[in-house]
Amino acid sequence: MTVVFMDRDGVINANRSDYVKSVDEFVVLPGALEGLARLRTAGVKVVVVSNQAAVGKGLLDAAELERISEKMRQTVSEGGGEIAGVYYCIHRKDESCDCRKPGTGMLCKASEEMGFPLEGSYFIGDAESDIIAGSKVGCTTIFVLTGRTPLEDMAHWKVKPNFVAPNLPAAVDFILDSENLRA
Ligand SMILES: [Mg+2]
Ligand SMILES: [Zn+2]
Repeated sequence: MTVVFMDRDGVINANRSDYVKSVDEFVVLPGALEGLARLRTAGVKVVVVSNQAAVGKGLLDAAELERISEKMRQTVSEGGGEIAGVYYCIHRKDESCDCRKPGTGMLCKASEEMGFPLEGSYFIGDAESDIIAGSKVGCTTIFVLTGRTPLEDMAHWKVKPNFVAPNLPAAVDFILDSENLRA
C-alpha cells in the first residue's frame, strides 16, 4: 500500500497569509482535484496533516475548522479523489506541543490510528516545516511551489526535500512513477 501524507494550505487549496478562516476562504488550487483523483485511481491513500494555529490564536473556531474539512472532503470526493484522514495541530507555536510541524506528533498519531506506515510513505508540503517533519519519520519528501515558500528559500534549508514539484499534480506524477503505478 502506498500512502501520501500532505499538508493542506498551499498544497490542496490556496494559502492565505492571514489564514483560511472560513469555508469561503477555502479555494482549491488548479489541478489539485485531478491529482487527488489519480491517486485514488491508483489505490494510493491520502492523509492531510496541517498546522492550524488560527484556532489557538482565536481567529477560527473548531466548528468552522470542521466545516472547512467537510468542504474539502466533499470537494475532493466530487472530483474523484478521497481523503482517508485529516489531522490538525490547533496550537500556537508558543504552546510547544509535539504535534505542530516540524514536530512529528500528527504523523505518528495518523500512522498509529490508521495503520499506515510512515517509513516508505510520501509527504508533500509547501514549507520547510513540512519537509523536516516528513524526513524525520522516513517519508520521501516533496516540496511543492504553490504555497507560501519561494524556491530560492530552499538554499537555506538544512533538510532538503527528495523532490521539488511545481504543484500537486506534478508531485502525483513523481509518486506514481516512483511506485510504478502510472496508468
Ligand atoms: Mg502549507
Ligand atoms: Zn499541536
